[in-house]
Amino acid sequence: MEDQKKEGNNINDVVIVGSGPAGLTAAIYASRARLSPILLMGETWGGQLMNTTEVENFPGFPDGIKGPDLMLGMIKQAEKFGTILKYANAEKISVQENGIKVVSTKEGDIQARSVILATGSIPRKLGIPGEDKFYGKGVSTCATCDAAFYKEKVVAVIGGGDSAMEEATFLTRFASKVYIIHRREEFRASKIMAERALKNEKIEVLWNTEVREVLGEETVTGLKIFNNKENKESNLDVSGMFLAIGHIPSTQFLTDLLDLDENGYVKTMNDVETNVPGIFVAGEIQDHVYKQAITTAADGCKAALKAQRWLEGSEEIKNVW
Ligand code: NAP
Repeated sequence: MEDQKKEGNNINDVVIVGSGPAGLTAAIYASRARLSPILLMGETWGGQLMNTTEVENFPGFPDGIKGPDLMLGMIKQAEKFGTILKYANAEKISVQENGIKVVSTKEGDIQARSVILATGSIPRKLGIPGEDKFYGKGVSTCATCDAAFYKEKVVAVIGGGDSAMEEATFLTRFASKVYIIHRREEFRASKIMAERALKNEKIEVLWNTEVREVLGEETVTGLKIFNNKENKESNLDVSGMFLAIGHIPSTQFLTDLLDLDENGYVKTMNDVETNVPGIFVAGEIQDHVYKQAITTAADGCKAALKAQRWLEGSEEIKNVW
């Protein structure tokens, strides 16, 4: 009995994995619900906003806020209400016969009744010279976030999927010209989105073209491109390069546990529930469409409320406090 009690004391109500806006918002809500959540921050914490300069679309900051400042504010807020931070990665998650979840880290195992997974996704990169050096200084993975910095400038969007079409079309509101650079001579994007982009007078498509290097001094001034049909290399003057070549969800450690779709995103039911009772997901680990700090934060809120209700034995969200 004593032993069982002791064991019971080691079982946490909720462990949250991931420290972007989704995980931190879940932590703020779960800690205010007195669930004393453990937040696994990861070894590199804070998510994609840690690499972002100015965030101008997060409500409440009319003059913008630096990405790292926004994340540090969320961390402070989560800690203030009792979140326990651990700077470790979750390497594996398993479920015992009694339903208790075991989150394994290099420092040891953590047991929990419920788990919220918010490990996000990583924008796919080209892996070419200059890409990392100019990240945040002309290289971007989010037109919605950064387009306004390119008023009357020439920019390039890389990719041929729906994201590339959407980002290029959005960028024409600000930029004077937008190149779409695609490695083949046919778009992968849906017809309607491709047509919208192709009709736009500010957009020019460079077909069969690959980017080989990002050029610049302090910021991006151009791209070294290669036409793979004509076998010809040239330079293209642009002030910005927007990568829209897909995202890789951080779900590699979950393949044995959760139902994933063909692209590796977690499949959900009722918003943020997974196929395992008591395991919830928030943010880009399951969302390949919106990918915004505010939408992932909203998911974090929903996941914490769901976890709380689930721990109380009620699966429904009736009243939100
Ligand atoms: P995607 O459909 O996977 O398209 C990625 C594009 O990037 C492809 O054209 C691909 O070229 C290209 N690409 C990949 N790796 C590359 C590399 N190393 N070098 C050069 N090009 C590379 O990704 P997505 O556009 O982000 O869309 C993801 C999902 O979200 C899709 O299901 C999409 O329909 C959906 N989505 C929907 C909306 C909407 O409905 N409003 C908006 C955005 C996204 P290839 O074609 O040659 O493979």
